Amino acid sequence: MVSFKARNTPDLAHLDQRLRHDLSEAKQLISHFEAVHDISTGILPRLCLDDAPEDLVIKSLDLAIITLRRVFLYCYYCGVKASCDEDMNRKCGVIHWRRAKDPAKKINEAGRSFHNRAYMSY
Ligand SMILES: [Zn+2]
Repeated sequence: MVSFKARNTPDLAHLDQRLRHDLSEAKQLISHFEAVHDISTGILPRLCLDDAPEDLVIKSLDLAIITLRRVFLYCYYCGVKASCDEDMNRKCGVIHWRRAKDPAKKINEAGRSFHNRAYMSY
């Protein structure tokens, strides 16, 4: 049986200043894990700068967090390092929802759906 366990991020995680801080931290973590494992994900040059418009920061942060989770089995929000996908699902769940600042704002289809669902859970 497959269970779907989701967690909510802290309430402050959707604020502009926090998004930029989290993006910066996530980039540093990716760089660290790439060095430790001697690999290149190729994702760092694709992430926006910390002072980019908020929509780009949100997209980049989501991409960075997914990279940390899928490639390095590390959950940014929990600080959990897992040994495999099942271990990650057991320790953390399958996703973290981040509350949308403006649920009607279009980011992209996946983002809009993600953010609307996150907003509705509050
Ligand atoms: Zn987590």
